[in-house]
Amino acid sequence: MTSTDRPTGSTTAKGPAGAAPQALPPTAAAGVTQASIVKKTAPKTDYKPSDVSPQRRVQRRYSVRLWSVRHSRALEWFYARFADLFLLLHPLWKGIGYGRVEAPVKFVEKRVKGFMFDCRMCGQCVLSSTGMSCPMNCPKQLRNGPCGGVRANGNCEVEPDMPCVWVKAWEGSRNMVKGDAILAVQKPVDQSLRETSAWLRVTARAAAQREKASEPA
Ligand code: SF4
Repeated sequence: MTSTDRPTGSTTAKGPAGAAPQALPPTAAAGVTQASIVKKTAPKTDYKPSDVSPQRRVQRRYSVRLWSVRHSRALEWFYARFADLFLLLHPLWKGIGYGRVEAPVKFVEKRVKGFMFDCRMCGQCVLSSTGMSCPMNCPKQLRNGPCGGVRANGNCEVEPDMPCVWVKAWEGSRNMVKGDAILAVQKPVDQSLRETSAWLRVTARAAAQREKASEPA
């Protein structure tokens, strides 16, 4: 479509055949966002969910999260050593039983990654591919890059005070040795793996691959 094909004047949406066209909200003026329009038009009630209010998000979490992104290269190095250690302990995990060690490992994983990355325990960690910025903190939970709503200052359109996790992911990935992993397409989140240990999953998978590779052809 060329610029001359575009309709001029106010924007309208076509309704069912024969129906009068519906007027859409006017083009966002400066400072007016989709989020503020939704907020303004939402029915007023006494119930305001505290956990999901952007205003009540803990600022400190952003600080720690942003620190992790800034130190993505060091964390990449540390995570590689940590994964090696976990793999080394595979015989122990297997001896005790992966099912039995899951609870204590998950307890530690949830707290450590929760503090460092604001981890949501999706169970399919992609931090090493996303510059140490957890994509599950994106309100839309996008796993393959930002939406079109990133603000000019690099913040989220849904949570205006929060830096877009994908803007940060790109910055973090540029510091990492294997930062180009951010270009790989991620699979959709498997919700059945929520609240499970990504550490144990990665370890068990690596152990299985290692055993398979050592089998005679
Ligand atoms: S990608 Fe998943 S497992 Fe990794 S930090 Fe984010 S929520 Fe946690």
